[in-house]
Amino acid sequence: PIYLDHHATTPVDPRVAATMWPYMCEQFGNPGSTHAYGEAAREAVAAARASIAAAIGAEPSEIVFTSGATESNNLAIRGVAERPRRRGDRLVSVWTEHPAVLDPLGHLGERGYDVVLVDVAACDAKSPGVIDLAQLEQAITDTTCLVSVMLVNNEIGVVQPLAEISALCKQHGALLHCDATQGVGKLPVDVDRLGVDLMSFTAHKLYGPKGVGALYVRRRNPVVRLLPQQTGGGQEQGRRSGTLNVPGIVGFAEAVRLAMEEMPEESPRVMRLRNALAEGIQQAVPEVAVMGPPLTAEWADGTPMRLPGNLNMMFPGTDGEALMLAMPEVACSSGAACSTGNDEPSHVLQALGLSPDEARSCLRFCIGRWTTDEQVRRTVQLVAAAVRKVRQLGGT
Ligand code: PLP
Repeated sequence: PIYLDHHATTPVDPRVAATMWPYMCEQFGNPGSTHAYGEAAREAVAAARASIAAAIGAEPSEIVFTSGATESNNLAIRGVAERPRRRGDRLVSVWTEHPAVLDPLGHLGERGYDVVLVDVAACDAKSPGVIDLAQLEQAITDTTCLVSVMLVNNEIGVVQPLAEISALCKQHGALLHCDATQGVGKLPVDVDRLGVDLMSFTAHKLYGPKGVGALYVRRRNPVVRLLPQQTGGGQEQGRRSGTLNVPGIVGFAEAVRLAMEEMPEESPRVMRLRNALAEGIQQAVPEVAVMGPPLTAEWADGTPMRLPGNLNMMFPGTDGEALMLAMPEVACSSGAACSTGNDEPSHVLQALGLSPDEARSCLRFCIGRWTTDEQVRRTVQLVAAAVRKVRQLGGT
């Protein structure tokens, strides 16, 4: 099948896999060991940490390796909220966040924390999906210990204005966490320019292996302290215990390096293919609508308001799951497919004001490193045929 689901995960780049091999069978040491095997592993991790840190404008000591963005989000949110000495019990986030942010917040809410979720602009607004900054400003108080806002939404690709959000947080001394899982490797990301204190990202969304990620934790004004969520051997300066995933970390660093190096050519290529897919579908299928910000929308500084590879479309009179069954040759996702076995209509699309049935009639596509013009042309034909078939069956 044609793979257009790069928000869900990406294939490991063979160049990345090549860097990982030696750290599985030959240099297999535990970085905590004092002998030569340990030393080799320790050096590899140190080099990977320095390289990943440099790519996001951080210091090596500010990187905590984890098992992925879900763990990073949990460590950031629980780690700040559960510190005995914290500013207060208010936590502020957004309705359109990933479950890996909303769920830990929900659990804290059940335990008595004051969790506030902010709205985003509706689908008929100028910039659908963009956070309501006025509402956010109201929500942040002097008792707010953490604000968590994602950089790029995994369903509609909207890029949130983190620097502006950071300015609001600073006014009240609240820490800012950012789930940048869908942004790192696809957009230029610099922790100082974004003004974030904590930032989650993961290797498998940028052509690296699954099961390895990182949390950036600011150590320069302010120094962010976390209550560790996993204790034991005291690895990662006590912030996350457990033997490091050395091959994964080495691959993660190579994946980040390649993504940064290739971004100047890759971004416009992916955007061109995404636009071709959207235009092709709009010409071939009557009554379709793009969900999320317009494809050409930009922020005032000229940066895209929507991730170059992301497309989300509504096909009224259909059901996304039925469309996918009608075109097994295309691997994309119905708006809801962000968590396993969950067939609830997308909470992100509903936050834009769509009804559950409207949300069910959407499909998400994401162009990737090996997507070709031919695949896009073929996908347009397959989508058009699937929509015709499902609409006929549905009698609309
Ligand atoms: N946050 C966002 C925005 C995501 O898209 C994902 C991926 O599903 C995650 C977090 C979870 O990442 P991981 O699979 O590395 O735990």
